Amino acid sequence: KISENLPVIRQLDEAAINRIAAGEVVERPASAVKELVENALDAGATRIEVTIADGGKGLIRVKDDGCGIPEDALPLALSRHATSKIDGSDLLNIHTFGFRGEALPSLGAVGRLKITSRTAGGQAAEIAVSGGRSEPVRPAALSGGTVVELRDLFYATPARLKFLRTDRAEGQAVTDTIKRLAMAEPYVGFTLRDVTGGGEGRVTFRADPESGDMFDALHGRLASILGKEFAENALRIDAEREGLHMTGYAALPTYSRGAAVAQFLFVNGRPVRDKLLTGALRAAYMDVLSRDRHPAAALFIDCDPTLVDVNVHPAKSEVRFRDPGVARGLIVSGLRHALAEAGHRASTTVAG
Ligand code: ADP
Ligand code: MG
Repeated sequence: KISENLPVIRQLDEAAINRIAAGEVVERPASAVKELVENALDAGATRIEVTIADGGKGLIRVKDDGCGIPEDALPLALSRHATSKIDGSDLLNIHTFGFRGEALPSLGAVGRLKITSRTAGGQAAEIAVSGGRSEPVRPAALSGGTVVELRDLFYATPARLKFLRTDRAEGQAVTDTIKRLAMAEPYVGFTLRDVTGGGEGRVTFRADPESGDMFDALHGRLASILGKEFAENALRIDAEREGLHMTGYAALPTYSRGAAVAQFLFVNGRPVRDKLLTGALRAAYMDVLSRDRHPAAALFIDCDPTLVDVNVHPAKSEVRFRDPGVARGLIVSGLRHALAEAGHRASTTVAG
C-alpha cells in the first residue's frame, strides 16, 4: 500500500537542468550581456560591439573580433559544463572571466540564441538553440570572430520575465555592465547601441592603442566613462600589501557624490560588488568626507589567484579573500596615503 504512493526519483532532462541553472546565471538582460561580453574578452577581442533592443529583453547582440569557435566545437559550446578555459582540475588558478561552461547553455534554455563564428583558418558556421532545443550546425557568412544573438530572453520562463523592470531600467543596467567591463579593459574598444523601435542610441568607448602605459589608458577610459571632472580630480593609486596590489584612481574628497554611484571595484580584472571592499573605501575617506557624501573611485586589486576565491557565486560578482584584513588594510592605508600626499590629511590615525 505504501509503495503505491512512493515518490519516484527521476533524472531531470538537460533542458530542465539548463533552465534551472539559468535562474542563477542570468537574472536579467544585463547578466546576459555580462556573460557574452566576458566571453568576447576571454576570446581575446580588441573590439566589441553590443546591440540591444527593449532593454535587452527583445534583443542582445554581441559581436567580437576574437579567436572564434571552430565549426565542429559549436555544439559543445552549447553543452553544459563544457569550457575551453580550464581543464577542470585547476579551479584555484583562474585567469579568464569564464570557467563554468554555463552561460551559453543557460541562455539557450531561456531565450532564442544564435551563435555565428569563424576561426582564422576555418569556415564560418552558425548554430541556433531555442528554449533548450538546438538545431544542427549550418554554414554561414562572417569574416571572422563571433556574433552571439539572443532574442526574446526569458520567453521560455514567463515567471522570470514578469520580474524584470521597465525596458528603461533594464537598459540602464546593461549600460552599467558595459561601463564596468570597459573600465576593466581599457585597451579594448566598446560600442553599445540601442536600436529599440529602430532607434540609434549609441555609446562608444574608443580604445587608443597609443595611450601609453596602463595608468594613461585607464585614465583616458575613466574620463570617457565617469567624465572629465572625475579624471581631473582623480589621484593615481598604486599601493601594495602582503601580495595584494592596488592600482587605479580615487577622487579628491571635493569631488564626492551624494550616493555611492561612482564606486567601481575590480579583483583580478573582474568587476565585483563587495561589502568588504566598499566598506574599506568608505573607511579610508571617513575623516575627510561628511557622512552623507560618498567617495568616487575605480580601484583594481590584483593578486595571485590562490589568494582570492572568485567561485563564491555563479554570477561571480562576489569574492572571498583568504585574508580579508589584508585587503581592507591595503585599501584604507593606500587611499589615506594618497589623500595625505594631496594635502587631505586625516585628523586621526586609524589602524589598518
Ligand atoms: P565559459 O565561458 O565558462 O567557458 P560559456 O558557456 O560562456 O562557458 O562558453 C562556452 C565555450 O564557448 C567557451 O569556453 C569558449 O570556448 C566558447 N565561446 C563562447 N563565446 C565565445 C566567443 N565570443 N569567442 C570564442 N569562443 C567563445
Ligand atoms: Mg562564459
